[in-house]
Amino acid sequence: SLFSHSAYDEHELVHFVRDVDSGLRGIIAVHSSALGPGAGGCRMWNYASEDAALQDVLRLSRGMSYKNAMANLPLGGGKAVILGDARQDKSEALFEAFGRAVNGLAGQYVTAEDVGVCEADMQIVARHTRYVSGLPQNGDAAGGDPSPKTALGVFCGIQAAVSASLRRQDLDGLRVAVQGLGNVGRHLCALLHEAGARLWVADIDDEAVAQVCQRFDATPVAVDEILYQDVDVLAPCALGGVLHSDSIPRLQARIVAGAANNQLLRDADGQRLFERGILYAPDYVINAGGIISCSAEYIGGLSAAEVDARVADIGPRLAEIFQRSQREKHPPNEIADALARDKLGRSS
Ligand code: NAD
Repeated sequence: SLFSHSAYDEHELVHFVRDVDSGLRGIIAVHSSALGPGAGGCRMWNYASEDAALQDVLRLSRGMSYKNAMANLPLGGGKAVILGDARQDKSEALFEAFGRAVNGLAGQYVTAEDVGVCEADMQIVARHTRYVSGLPQNGDAAGGDPSPKTALGVFCGIQAAVSASLRRQDLDGLRVAVQGLGNVGRHLCALLHEAGARLWVADIDDEAVAQVCQRFDATPVAVDEILYQDVDVLAPCALGGVLHSDSIPRLQARIVAGAANNQLLRDADGQRLFERGILYAPDYVINAGGIISCSAEYIGGLSAAEVDARVADIGPRLAEIFQRSQREKHPPNEIADALARDKLGRSS
């Protein structure tokens, strides 16, 4: 039943939102407020079922608690999902209703963009609440669209993983497969291309593939083949759940380091990667650049350059996790989970 859902076990708040006039159906979840208000983006997705949406928001909000804790931000973990097709079902009224719902939680949840939701949508949300981030900024102010900062953090994480696994300090000629060429994926391709890496790319959107191939001299790959390319690094930048018992044995990359949230279908899939000698950068550590930027915008006090420096700290943070993983012979995702839970005071 709804009330006995096992995924609730750890969550502080699950809020269902329905607005008949705009058609809004959404769920807001706060996993932990131990370190501050529950902060995390709003995803708009055409879920196969209401249960799938609930599962997603609960798992994503837990991931935000871990992500914000590991990035040393004064924020707890929260997330929102809106059920619907972002290409067809968006309207001003929908995001106004969502903004009112966020405001009704009086700061327990702070929203921003995620998959399917953009800066313009957050500007509509901001008409009704101040508990919002990821809004356009002027000049040198920190914040704005978080995606370029997420891509920068993933880039720094790839550098750390390459150093730890391949014992190389530069990315010149490195072979990287990027799955998903959306807001983060295409910025990541730009950074990798500039650093001399060679790119193999895939997206369900042919236009996105064509643009990236033309701009960054990338090779297009079929969507169902991108995970299995003979490359040094696989960067999943589409949706979660791509690393599992079927896909892991077929991977050829030495490193998996990308932006997507919840890349491991199950926690045990981290062990599978570890046993295959594939270095996995825990997703919520490597993809924290966007929330570091949103946090600076929401709380204030940092310049854009200071935000970039904090995003670059993702590299050394991962390097430490990789070292502990080697030393303690545990997969990096387990090392990161233990560190994050400790910071949240949930040590079990
Ligand atoms: P986006 O919606 O802009 O891009 C996702 C891209 O993946 C789209 O181009 C889509 O067509 C493509 N895609 C979907 N299914 C695919 C498939 N099966 N194969 C190949 N491509 C596929 O989203 P985004 O903002 O770039 O985020 C990408 C991932 O990174 C998400 O998992 C998101 O949760 C995570 N993330 C994003 C941010 C951020 O700042 N945007 C921060 C942290 C984590």
